[in-house]
Amino acid sequence: MDSFNVEESADSTKIIPLGRIKPTIIPKHHHTGFCKHSSILVDEKNRMLECEQCGQVIDPFDYIWEESTNQSQLFTTITELRREMEWLMKQKNRLEKAVLKLKQRKMQT
Ligand SMILES: [Zn+2]
Repeated sequence: MDSFNVEESADSTKIIPLGRIKPTIIPKHHHTGFCKHSSILVDEKNRMLECEQCGQVIDPFDYIWEESTNQSQLFTTITELRREMEWLMKQKNRLEKAVLKLKQRKMQT
């Protein structure tokens, strides 16, 4: 005899067989797992951060740490791009002078 058979249990009026339960499950938030949390809600009362788009609660320290890391990387990128721009400007000036010399040589011949 199956002791887990709900239909035969003495307390069957209080137990709902699992196979008959069909709950409607509506997720509160639509978290895709790929949200970049680009819009953050600040709950001042509870001192919490929550993503406006997916609803994920975000640890304030983690948020500040990530933002400062991103800012630091952006600063490094800007510095590198400025150096590259200066180098390219020098190359452009050098090439323009070379073209000018070639044109002058062609005119002389
Ligand atoms: Zn999010």
